[in-house]
Amino acid sequence: MRNDTKSPKLLKKHPKAFQVEWKDGHSSWYPYTYLRQMCPCAECAIIRHKGSDVHSLFSPQGDGDITLIEVSDDIQPLDIQLVGRYALQFSWNDGHDTGIYPFEVLRETCPCPECAPPNVEQEERAP
Ligand SMILES: [Zn+2]
Ligand SMILES: [Zn+2]
Repeated sequence: MRNDTKSPKLLKKHPKAFQVEWKDGHSSWYPYTYLRQMCPCAECAIIRHKGSDVHSLFSPQGDGDITLIEVSDDIQPLDIQLVGRYALQFSWNDGHDTGIYPFEVLRETCPCPECAPPNVEQEERAP
């Protein structure tokens, strides 16, 4: 079974960002503020969806508004644990540690221009 785009080859902690290098050769850099705001736990999902119950099958999909999560500039992971072989759990220095980040989600949320959804700031690619 090949799943190279969702399998990490290298995980590295940098001063301001977390790096995942994937088996397909792509490298993703996640600024800690961004990662913290993307926290996939239910508590943060509810904040991003302005209080909507994210446990309902009919709840809004997607990440919601990540800017609704307040993060200080010096946010850092104190600890990062592997959860099985499919996810990472970050313990942040703001005391939050309930977010489990599946590699699949991390790959989907890679903030690099190559992976970003084609909408804003596409001027340069005009024909
Ligand atoms: Zn959370
Ligand atoms: Zn990317």
